[in-house]
Amino acid sequence: MLAMRLHAPGQPLVADERPVPQPGPGELLLKVSACGVCRTDLHVVDGELPGVRCPLVPGHEIVGRVVAIGAGARSAVGARVGVPWLAATCGRCRWCRAGRENLCDGAVFTGYTRDGGYAEYAVANAGFCFAIPERYDDAEAAPLLCAGLIGYRAWRAAGDAVTLGLYGFGASAHLLAQLATAQGCRVFAFTRPGDTDARQFAISLGAAWAGDSDQSPPEPLDAAILFAPVGALVPSALAATRKAGRVVCAGIHMSDIPSFPYRLLWEERSVVSVANLTRRDGEEFMRLAAEVPLHVSVQRLPLMQANEALKLLRQGEIRGAAVLVDGPC
Ligand SMILES: [Zn+2]
Ligand SMILES: [Zn+2]
Repeated sequence: MLAMRLHAPGQPLVADERPVPQPGPGELLLKVSACGVCRTDLHVVDGELPGVRCPLVPGHEIVGRVVAIGAGARSAVGARVGVPWLAATCGRCRWCRAGRENLCDGAVFTGYTRDGGYAEYAVANAGFCFAIPERYDDAEAAPLLCAGLIGYRAWRAAGDAVTLGLYGFGASAHLLAQLATAQGCRVFAFTRPGDTDARQFAISLGAAWAGDSDQSPPEPLDAAILFAPVGALVPSALAATRKAGRVVCAGIHMSDIPSFPYRLLWEERSVVSVANLTRRDGEEFMRLAAEVPLHVSVQRLPLMQANEALKLLRQGEIRGAAVLVDGPC
């Protein structure tokens, strides 16, 4: 099979011919039909995350069909499933026992600590795969598996916000903006200074206002979610929130946060991060995605063009999400 693999951090992926993997106990073998390209993949290939073992197949927004079932795994040949970032947990540590498996001490992550979906086939733990609402085709479904899910988890961490700021209007924000407006939130989108296309895109998806990330919103925010990996946005977002406002950092990696005056945090404002996902997040989010018809903006590229997809994402040239697909686009 074709697999786009990282052989060393900072290097382009290499198109390798590899044997089709075999599913172990509890695992499924999937024929991959689509795999989303997430900002986390950039952090993986750039070597910004610890412990990347090469060669590695990146990709953790996998949509595929089951072609073989390992011993004890429950599924059906031909079933469409989605594979998220959380690939396995230990089930025994204090975090797993407390219902916080996203923080599991022994967690395994798709496309990071095990091979992911930038390949024609992938193996996944059946217990960590999700059913996908039928209304989405394979390419549309792929970004739901991380961009959608993490946006949902970050939104829950934001509390009961009526005015919600989204900093960085990429794959996650374009889905969350629709979910949040459907539930009565007023969404304020903050984009890279001068990115008028992104601002128009945000407005077209229901945002009440869109402006540059250094601008003040027209009214104070109850909460802000930072999808952009830019630490300097933390004090900006705090300054835009009202009393008791919450700033949620949704990315796995961020540039350093500059020092800021204590008055920005005063009055019970808080800064929190969200890490990974639980299976419960996934089930809740997929139920919502089945109810609310999300417009998933995808740019399809063939698997062979994974490096091009990463480059476009890095340059901010993707509207919504980039998705690698099997076969012609
Ligand atoms: Zn655990
Ligand atoms: Zn991701």
